[in-house]
Amino acid sequence: MKAFCPSCGVKEGEKEFIDGFCIDCYLKDHELFKIPEEIEIEICSNCQKFRFGKQWIDYTDENIEKLIVSKAESNMDIDDLKVGIYPEEKNVLVKLQIKGRKNEIPLTIRKEIYLKERKVNCPACSRLNGGYFEATLQIRFDKMQRDKERKALLQMHEILNSEREKGDHLAQVIKLEEKKDGFDVQLGSKKAARKISREFTKRYNGKVTFSSSIVTEKKGTPVYRDTFCVRMP
Ligand SMILES: [Zn+2]
Ligand SMILES: [Zn+2]
Repeated sequence: MKAFCPSCGVKEGEKEFIDGFCIDCYLKDHELFKIPEEIEIEICSNCQKFRFGKQWIDYTDENIEKLIVSKAESNMDIDDLKVGIYPEEKNVLVKLQIKGRKNEIPLTIRKEIYLKERKVNCPACSRLNGGYFEATLQIRFDKMQRDKERKALLQMHEILNSEREKGDHLAQVIKLEEKKDGFDVQLGSKKAARKISREFTKRYNGKVTFSSSIVTEKKGTPVYRDTFCVRMP
């Protein structure tokens, strides 16, 4: 005698069975892929990065997937996960298709959830908005030529872009001041300032002088502000 599903009466053999129940009844009672219907996501209104744990990362489909997977709880073997992202007026609709197996029985589960976006300022942007900067870069030319200066400015921005891409969020210009033989730039990141001064001395055969001063004491820790003066022929 064949067993039947105690819930709906269907006979074994007519459908797949899991733990004594037909697959449809089993899935009604067991959530094999659990995920909140709504996930709140904090997005920086300045740089568009979003918070992922303690990190702030770029808003890309790949990273959104990472966030979603981190919120999910699975009770099945997953073979394939497809995530479709559909921004709507206020929130973002996310369609999930999970293909996998439970007790070696193949299954496809579909889910729709929402990402609720909350606009905030990420810590780095709030610091920069508050006038925070770590370094001043002084670029000086022996003989002032505007085209040389323009080239140096472009290269500085290129280096800043690549530093930001590498994750140094503070690699930004806070203030730029024209001087009669060059320019002064306040930079959020001292690491980026060092990189630029190094790159400039190499490319232009320039010379760099470095100084550091203590500006404030934050919770007892001295905060250093660095000055890199690059002289270029
Ligand atoms: Zn059933
Ligand atoms: Zn930001």
